[in-house]
Amino acid sequence: MTATQSPVVFLHQVERRYQQGDAALEILNGADLAVWSGQMVALLAPSGAGKSTLLHIAGLLEHQDAGEVFIDDVPTSTLNDAERTRIRRNEVGFVYQAHHLLTEFTAVENVMLPQMIQGLPRKEATERAVQLLSYLGLKERLQHRPAELSGGEQQRVAIARAVANAPRILLADEPTGNLDPRTSEHVFRALTQLVRASKLAAIIATHNLDIAARMDRRVTIRDGRIVELE
Ligand code: ADP
Repeated sequence: MTATQSPVVFLHQVERRYQQGDAALEILNGADLAVWSGQMVALLAPSGAGKSTLLHIAGLLEHQDAGEVFIDDVPTSTLNDAERTRIRRNEVGFVYQAHHLLTEFTAVENVMLPQMIQGLPRKEATERAVQLLSYLGLKERLQHRPAELSGGEQQRVAIARAVANAPRILLADEPTGNLDPRTSEHVFRALTQLVRASKLAAIIATHNLDIAARMDRRVTIRDGRIVELE
């Protein structure tokens, strides 16, 4: 990382509030966060603090009420829905706590689908899916359906799917939240390998302090702002 390089994703003075009856719930209020290529940022905050909200805004799934989200220096708030969707599909990969894999499809098909939706021919989509799954230690599980995989394996398929279209940003919402410590470790290592190899900018919400300690930075949400920890 050099001083002259721009962050891949940059939230600038982001505000987000929800209406709860008569009261406005201020979730984000002047939140700033910049993440550079190859960097893993742990987002540590109590439940309800706004972690999912922040990830959804960073990934253009949700609109902020004020402020700007820059993706590769491009301000996104004034883009139309089609342009936001294009950026989201090409540049952003999401991993959730629950894997959300398609149960009727095999591991390899789950990773092929987002690529085929993007117009990649079946042969190339298959090749990349096999390559990614093998890289994540699932070479022997290509033809398994989600129900035939362990929790950790399902989550690794979900990670492969998230990066199937070679995004530049990886957003993960408690990706190891449902897993036992040993499996969490496995999944975290898989995530780290991918972030390093593909130079992704990653924001990973987690309650796991051991895992957070091994990321490049740790941040929290305090009074609607992002605060760096340590
Ligand atoms: P976290 O991921 O840190 O648990 P969230 O971002 O999911 O927190 O939610 C932050 C707060 O905003 C919570 O109090 C939640 O109830 C509230 N919230 C989230 N989404 C909505 C919504 N669509 N409408 C109203 N309140 C919401």
